[in-house]
Amino acid sequence: MYRSKMLIDGEFVPSISGKVTTIFNPANGDLVAEVPKGNRKDARVALNAAKRAFPEWAKTNSQRRGEILHEGAKIVRQRAEQIASLLTQEQGKPLKDAKKEVLASAEFFDYYAEEGKRNFGEWIPTQSPNTRSLVIRQPIGVAALITPWNYPVYLLALKMAPALAAGCTFVAKPASGAPMAATELIKAIFDAGTPPGAVNVILGPGSEVGAELIENPISRKISFTGESETGRWILRHTAQHIKRLSLELGGHSPFIVCQDADFEEAAKSCLWRAFSNMGQICVSVNRIYVDQKIFDEFSSILVEQTQKLKIGNGMDPKVDLGPMFNEAQRQKTREHITDAVVKGAKVLCGGDEPKGMEYEKGFFFLPTVLSNVNHSMKIMQEETFGPVAPIMTFKTLDEALRLANDSQYGLAAYLFTKDLSTAIYASEMLEVGGVGVNVNNVMDMQAPFGGWKQSGLGREHSRHALDEFLETKHIRLKL
Ligand code: NDP
Repeated sequence: MYRSKMLIDGEFVPSISGKVTTIFNPANGDLVAEVPKGNRKDARVALNAAKRAFPEWAKTNSQRRGEILHEGAKIVRQRAEQIASLLTQEQGKPLKDAKKEVLASAEFFDYYAEEGKRNFGEWIPTQSPNTRSLVIRQPIGVAALITPWNYPVYLLALKMAPALAAGCTFVAKPASGAPMAATELIKAIFDAGTPPGAVNVILGPGSEVGAELIENPISRKISFTGESETGRWILRHTAQHIKRLSLELGGHSPFIVCQDADFEEAAKSCLWRAFSNMGQICVSVNRIYVDQKIFDEFSSILVEQTQKLKIGNGMDPKVDLGPMFNEAQRQKTREHITDAVVKGAKVLCGGDEPKGMEYEKGFFFLPTVLSNVNHSMKIMQEETFGPVAPIMTFKTLDEALRLANDSQYGLAAYLFTKDLSTAIYASEMLEVGGVGVNVNNVMDMQAPFGGWKQSGLGREHSRHALDEFLETKHIRLKL
């Protein structure tokens, strides 16, 4: 069994209260870990440590900070098997996907090791002939990094790396249900040479530990990924101290397939983006809009491919899909399917739990394809965060775009077409932070990622993520 401690001020410590949280494997219910359960007091100790460490880290030059980040990437790669195995055991995803997640995190450390060196300022000619203006960008201060359970390593890495590269120190709070791999990621960057207090990890309930990180005036920057409802709570509770916020929140991504699209390729792309990680992805395909003339071809390929997916314990290398993270997620998925069926949806495949001894103790669910859906159904409006692909048909592109934009969310959208004008017109019309044209992923480390509407504030990935951890200062000089 894995036993970890929290990292505060360069020391590995238990919670002050001595309380612990137990972690169970979602594939079979086995006890896999016991981790400290911190509270507001532990969070305050960690914030104070990060505050003490900030001046030294902020003035460490970007070259040295880069060396430490590169070393962190190296250590993560060396420990990838071990971290990935913990990730599969706590979160459920197949081991091969867990390993990809860990290795992608190392890439973020390498990327920001270099990007931190490009924190350029400006030298500006001014209105008055005898003054000059310099603009410099400086680290904000202590950052609180709060992350969810669906990609506990990747989502933390893409906050940690720009925070450290910018010169911020941080206190991280991983999700209570999946804290092991995230804790190991932070250990790796600590082992790479960050000074005591620069990186801290605190474990415990969001309502206590998270709330302290949000409300305490020491944290000047909040970088949060999680539910829109929690994001709204954070907005309200940071009002008193006016903190800088990055909020990566929920999504409800449309997937539009035009008549001229390669429908076979579109169906295969859709399959992976709808069901990988059991649909527990903010940019997962939640609503499919297919031109009515190609519905039969598209849906039959999608159903055929869906039925071939192998479900099981993520530690089995042959498995495509693991269990869902917990019973609450599975129950929400069932509820959304039932609501859709009651309102007229047809189940083309899945819709239930898989049968068999090997599935009895885990939170397994069959990947599901629905047709005959409409926007009165919860599944077309609310984030299911489950393996369901509901298909609706459309007659014109403008109808598809209107349906796609009929959402409180605006994170990602996907469009399949061979026509360049359609691609550009639709991309400009979609109210989202990222559009994938003939591709099922809007994420690229070198391009900004984030949401419109209730999907959030701010951007991650790319040079934009560095900006999120920097303040701008104008220095006016009289000659
Ligand atoms: P939650 O919002 O429930 O939790 C996210 C994190 O916030 C957890 O660490 C949680 O702690 C903590 N938290 C909870 N309440 C508070 C609080 N009051 N103050 C501070 N921290 C708090 O989200 P989930 O873990 O359920 O994650 C799923 C959600 O994340 C989905 O909506 C998904 O769309 C979204 N997401 C968005 C992404 C994006 O990039 N836009 C990417 C991935 C996911 P604890 O675990 O202890 O409750």
